[in-house]
Amino acid sequence: MFIRVEVDGSAASDPAVAKQLAAVCPVDIFDDDAGRVRIVDDNLDECILCALCLDAAPPGAVRVIKRYDGDKLLEAALHR
Ligand code: SF4
Repeated sequence: MFIRVEVDGSAASDPAVAKQLAAVCPVDIFDDDAGRVRIVDDNLDECILCALCLDAAPPGAVRVIKRYDGDKLLEAALHR
């Protein structure tokens, strides 16, 4: 897995945020699960690092973390 996505707890349970995230991500990494954000793990590898999710949520609520290859872990987070 090359990407990890984290959503802050209060944002993850905010129905407005769940709706927004589900609407903006072009590769359906976020699902609006009855008003809660659910990360769709099967789609994580499709992330194109567009950062639309960062702009759709409160500042700092979403982190998209780039990870590369087990041993050589170069981890960098997209965040606002
Ligand atoms: S950076 Fe773009 S593709 Fe990746 S999770 Fe956010 S909205 Fe989806």
